[in-house]
Amino acid sequence: MEKVTTMNTSKSAFDLGLIRKDFPLLSRKINDAPIIYADNAATTQKPLSVIRRLSNFYAEENSNVHRGVHALSEAATAAFEDSRKIIAKFINAQSEAEIIFTKGTTEAVNLVAQSYARSQLKTNDKVIITELEHHSNIVPWQIVKEQTGCELCIAPVSTSGEVLLEEFEKLCDERTKIVSFSHISNALGTINPVTELTKIAKLCGAKVFIDGAQATLHEAIDVQKIGCDFYAFSGHKAIGPTGIGILYGKLNLLEEMPPWQGGGDMIEKVSFKGTTYNNVPYKFEAGTPNIAGAIGLAEGIKYYSTIDLQSAKEHTRSLTKKCEELSSCISGLRVIGTATNKSSICSFIIDNIHPNDIGTLLDQQGIAIRSGHHCAMPLMEKFGIKGTARASFTFYNTIEEVEQVFKAIEKARKILA
Ligand code: PMP
Repeated sequence: MEKVTTMNTSKSAFDLGLIRKDFPLLSRKINDAPIIYADNAATTQKPLSVIRRLSNFYAEENSNVHRGVHALSEAATAAFEDSRKIIAKFINAQSEAEIIFTKGTTEAVNLVAQSYARSQLKTNDKVIITELEHHSNIVPWQIVKEQTGCELCIAPVSTSGEVLLEEFEKLCDERTKIVSFSHISNALGTINPVTELTKIAKLCGAKVFIDGAQATLHEAIDVQKIGCDFYAFSGHKAIGPTGIGILYGKLNLLEEMPPWQGGGDMIEKVSFKGTTYNNVPYKFEAGTPNIAGAIGLAEGIKYYSTIDLQSAKEHTRSLTKKCEELSSCISGLRVIGTATNKSSICSFIIDNIHPNDIGTLLDQQGIAIRSGHHCAMPLMEKFGIKGTARASFTFYNTIEEVEQVFKAIEKARKILA
């Protein structure tokens, strides 16, 4: 197994062999071959510490939060609220009250669209998104457009898949109330210049939402440095459980926003004459939350903080470079998305071959990649294609795995051509 070390100190050693042992699924066989998991943009694998934390919670600590006076409920509440603090620190929020637990990124976008946007926007107002977006950062805004009559503008991207800054700037004007874009594109891997985009949007007084679903394992996230108003990510793409994610929002904004769902926990006092609401963040967390999920997500973040992130980043960059090098050697292969600043996502098509057929042949060799439109149909349309095959790697993948994936792609090409 490959061992990557940086030149700094022994503490910063990044031992890929040891890291991989922490992820039990990476030792499985699929179709009689050792698995190569290259579908990390869809979801990441989980370290044992997260799996054990979930199991321990249900075996030994399970109880509902916030409403109990018994020991179990108090312990579950403490663990749940500690998780909020860990997540706040992970993205450098000013306060844990700025972290709202959601089901994931999708629910976070819908929360802002239905609470903030729906209550604020009027007919002549504008929401700007980009051509790069995942459906979950398109459809909620289309729904708000129907509800409020606002205009939904789309900032174009170049043929390499980068937001055209001049065009983006031209769209931003005094009518622009919300600008929403992804930190990293799941379909192409483009890393957006989020601080720059935020700065431009802020010049016209817009509120900025960033979809960080793909960014948690690729970029150090500092919401204060970026200057955005909202930021969202999903636990399952950050070595945490499914069904949990977060919305970060600036406290003053969250305090002004109306609730978007009613129920238990989000109230201060209920009577048939009327109801007063709980403080932020609870105002946005109606009903029993995903307690184990939140605790598991924090455990994932704790695990991630034990590895040397600089080395992890350098390693992931070397995987990206390897993808670039090897993809250029396959005849008829065209990479879709060639931004200068790219994450370790390689989306491609091969002349006269359906992406699903590549995915199926790779699966027979134990290799998991994804094929299709990647929930980015408008982006696919822009490139004049129906979909791509997408190999997506993360810090626990090895250079050898990237090599084997491209060997298998070449083999598939020869069979299918
Ligand atoms: N945005 C991006 C960029 C994504 O990659 C995804 C997941 N593929 C989402 C949003 C939606 O995330 P979730 O399904 O976890 O809510």
